[in-house]
Amino acid sequence: MSASETSRLGAFRIEVRDFIRDKLPDDIRETVRSGRLGTAGETQRWQKILHEKGWVAPSWPVELGGVDWTPMQRNIFEEECALADCPPLDPMGLSMIGPLIIARGSQAQKDFYLPRILASEEKWCQGYSEPGSGSDLASLQTRAVADGDDYVVNGTKIWTSGTHAADRIFCLVRTDPDVKKQEGISLLLIDLKTPGISIRPIIGLNEMHFFNQIFFDDVRVPIANRVGEENRGWTYAKEVLGDERLQLSRTGENKRLLRQLKTIAAQEDHGGEKLADQDWFRRKLRRAEVRLKALDYTKLRFLQRAEAGEAIGPEVSMLKLQGSELIQELDEMLLEAVGHYGLPYDKSWMLIPRSELNESPIGSDYAGMLSANRFRHKGYTIAGGSSEVQRTIISKRVLGL
Ligand SMILES: Cc1cc2nc3c(=O)[nH]c(=O)nc-3n(C[C@H](O)[C@H](O)[C@H](O)COP(=O)(O)OP(=O)(O)OC[C@H]3O[C@@H](n4cnc5c(N)ncnc54)[C@H](O)[C@@H]3O)c2cc1C
Repeated sequence: MSASETSRLGAFRIEVRDFIRDKLPDDIRETVRSGRLGTAGETQRWQKILHEKGWVAPSWPVELGGVDWTPMQRNIFEEECALADCPPLDPMGLSMIGPLIIARGSQAQKDFYLPRILASEEKWCQGYSEPGSGSDLASLQTRAVADGDDYVVNGTKIWTSGTHAADRIFCLVRTDPDVKKQEGISLLLIDLKTPGISIRPIIGLNEMHFFNQIFFDDVRVPIANRVGEENRGWTYAKEVLGDERLQLSRTGENKRLLRQLKTIAAQEDHGGEKLADQDWFRRKLRRAEVRLKALDYTKLRFLQRAEAGEAIGPEVSMLKLQGSELIQELDEMLLEAVGHYGLPYDKSWMLIPRSELNESPIGSDYAGMLSANRFRHKGYTIAGGSSEVQRTIISKRVLGL
């Protein structure tokens, strides 16, 4: 990278940092800093602030309401947001279906959906997985049969995150059962209020309602709601998954967690000596730091390739694999640092500010949230393609084994 490019990106980083410092509301910053789950209202409020600034859709073209930042700029923006305790933006509309509609949607779809996503007026969820079709997603069975101007959809989707708070779902459905399984799939945009749709909550072990199962019984969806060509949905979905994996390296989130670990290690006393001064812990910390540096540089190499207009291939899987596994390693180190204070879990700690709780978590401020976040992070090595699947992709499609 040239010296002028480096200084341009440096100035951009400062601009982003200053904006967040001035505009991120203190209550929202505190929610994220303390490790609580933000409310939908908090995320929406932050998205509206970014929308007013014109920064809510970093990857979208300017003429469609985006910023058209380069991949390097987007990376800086995401990292600064994570380090400054901004709530993560809702990825379903802004990073997943929005870019897909931009790339493959009709003009009518762009005119209708994109402004609503930008203004946080409508929330989306993703209907890909089915019972029996997760890792082997192409085997999905939800069927869409053309009938006049509509498709009639029957089947079920599972593990759909946030459906209970969403307005619409983008769904992979089978439109041709008689061809190779990847070639008979289409992508539909479905209003969740359409008759024939029912939603069953799935309550997690952590007592939180995050997942759902959706049932489609003779649901009529206009053919005009199909994105792109019939039977090309698998190809379109893969395009978005590739972009998702670039983002799922979670370098900002990892850096934030590492910073927290260092702060805690400097405070926690084990056997009369600060943890940060003990060799065994320092060695672990250094190893995690080296892994994070390697991840960061690998990501930067991918970003430079993306900036040069090169297509990113299946090797991008290594970012998702390393980033999600590193977060879990840092979680285990945090647990070692706080010991048994990191084990209790109470759902209300995730939702209610500490000052308003009847009964506070035991131990230090940071220990109470540890179990909750540690369990939440377990999902990182499953969602968007499990670690085992990423390793298979790397061994087969990258290393040719
Ligand atoms: C936090 C979270 C959010 C999610 N949100 C959504 C959502 O919004 N919308 C949606 O559609 N889905 C969502 N999912 C579902 C997710 O995409 C699936 O869980 C994932 O694809 C794995 O599928 P599965 O659960 O059916 O597991 P399976 O595919 O049954 O896998 C079970 C185990 O077997 C392993 N395995 C499977 N195949 C192989 C193989 N060939 N070689 C080696 N090991 C293998 C897997 O790695 C895993 O450990 C979410 C999941 C999580 C955890």
